[in-house]
Amino acid sequence: MKLFDVYPLQPVTITKGLGSYVWDESGTRYLDMYGGHAVISIGHTHPHWVKRIEQQLEQLAFYSNSVHLPIQQTLAEKLGEISGKKNYQLFLCNSGAEANENALKLASFVTQRRKIIAFRQSFHGRTSLAVAATDNPSIVAPVNETDAVIFLPLNDEQALEDCFKKVGSTIAAVIIEGIQGVGGIRVASTSFLRLIQQQCKQYGALLIADSVQCGYGRSGEFFSHDFAQVDADMYTMAKGMGNGFPIGGVLIAPHIQPKHGMLGTTFGGNPLACAAALGVLEVMENESLISNAKVVGQYLMEQLNKIPSLQNVRGRGLMIGFDVPPELATLKNRLLNEYQIFTGEAKPSVIRLLPALSLTREQADEFLQALQTAIATHPTT
Ligand code: PMP
Repeated sequence: MKLFDVYPLQPVTITKGLGSYVWDESGTRYLDMYGGHAVISIGHTHPHWVKRIEQQLEQLAFYSNSVHLPIQQTLAEKLGEISGKKNYQLFLCNSGAEANENALKLASFVTQRRKIIAFRQSFHGRTSLAVAATDNPSIVAPVNETDAVIFLPLNDEQALEDCFKKVGSTIAAVIIEGIQGVGGIRVASTSFLRLIQQQCKQYGALLIADSVQCGYGRSGEFFSHDFAQVDADMYTMAKGMGNGFPIGGVLIAPHIQPKHGMLGTTFGGNPLACAAALGVLEVMENESLISNAKVVGQYLMEQLNKIPSLQNVRGRGLMIGFDVPPELATLKNRLLNEYQIFTGEAKPSVIRLLPALSLTREQADEFLQALQTAIATHPTT
């Protein structure tokens, strides 16, 4: 049987990972500044995380949500502590799209409204409503097309106010990434996030903070929306939450009342995924990874800003993007093929850095050194 061919592949076969490095089948080592698409938070195959999963696997891998599973409560408590959202409620699922799908659906249940505000260049996932709220028509199938989603320009306060003035009473939710990832590392401004919170309160809509990529400590705060000191009604999470073990979740503000049957899932909150997520939080705490992301991220940004040919260096913590000028168009591929460094990209010409939150300053220097050499030796066309 063939694999359904939906991904353009890099010419590399990865067989092993440890910390911020991965190895291919012939034993060549690569520095991972991409984190398997922002998924690797505490580093590849962290020994504590491996042990946590192994121990749980020997105990109980799965039972359904029809019984008490105490490890879910343990995870909720630890997550409340580390995120600072102790009074929120936790709904567990398996992916980022699922987290957003459930959050949007819950907002509609609670408000009994059917319009959503999302932003230009957003990415929220590939399930029906999450993809409809994603600003990329090429991945929206005809069956997912809906007039329920209104797209506004990011950071345009006037457009937001005008929209609420016109149709505010129909808006169930505003969904926004604190830092757009797929859209090319575009940071939502503090004043914009505060205005969204204020308008949502005024018109009875809910604020959904999509933290699937920008969350879980990557920005140097637990949620990147925390920089604006807003309290979202829901935070959606996935990627770094399991460090590669599939798990997603929604943090739900205390004023939102649950009802039996409102949301549900077979695999969400399974003990194995909870053990992986607990392993992640324990390592994040023990190794102070959120402050490491802040410090190493700041260092990387400062150094990147000194490289004249890179434009618009931006981001927060270890979520960094910069524009690559046309004459360096092959830079990303050269970093991989000639310097054994994985980076991410965003169309058309952005390099995205999404390394593990445990990236050291020495590893940052290793990347910067290679980047500078690659630029200095770039073939002229
Ligand atoms: N939201 C954001 C901000 C994302 O970056 C992504 C994945 N790129 C998703 C949602 C969807 O997550 P998943 O692929 O786990 O469904």
